[in-house]
Amino acid sequence: MDGTWSRDDIAASVRRAGGRMTAAKRGIADVLAATGTDLSADEITQRVQAARPEISPSTVYRVLDEFEELGIVVHAHLGHGATVYHLTGVPHGHVVCTACATSSEVPAELFDRMEGELLERFGFALDRHHVAIAGLCASCRGVREPGAPADRARQRAH
Ligand SMILES: [Zn+2]
Ligand SMILES: [Zn+2]
Ligand SMILES: [Zn+2]
Repeated sequence: MDGTWSRDDIAASVRRAGGRMTAAKRGIADVLAATGTDLSADEITQRVQAARPEISPSTVYRVLDEFEELGIVVHAHLGHGATVYHLTGVPHGHVVCTACATSSEVPAELFDRMEGELLERFGFALDRHHVAIAGLCASCRGVREPGAPADRARQRAH
């Protein structure tokens, strides 16, 4: 699967695997398909519950597990923050600021060289997506990002 998943793609994938498209799965598929970014299970639960308040957080976790087994979603760990989920598709990695916890998606090609060297020299296969690379973002470093306001208030850690 490359590019974006629609709710129908998700339903087709669930049915191909012999699963049933329940109301919870439809609701979660809608939330995921409507959101292009990383969402924590809590955020997914809140958005799903806006339309279907009867869907419990444990149901959301169960559905996310099933979607992950089917290759529909992947999860990533962003530093000390919550685990996030999003639809599979565009390969990317994550960086997370240890001061303000802001995370960004970065193109997977950034890791090409590291991946090659890790494999060649250590026989180690890098998973670019699973865990975010920690550091300090431009604003916490006090450096002006291209296009960002110069005097953006420094955010405090946690
Ligand atoms: Zn991601
Ligand atoms: Zn994990
Ligand atoms: Zn920061």
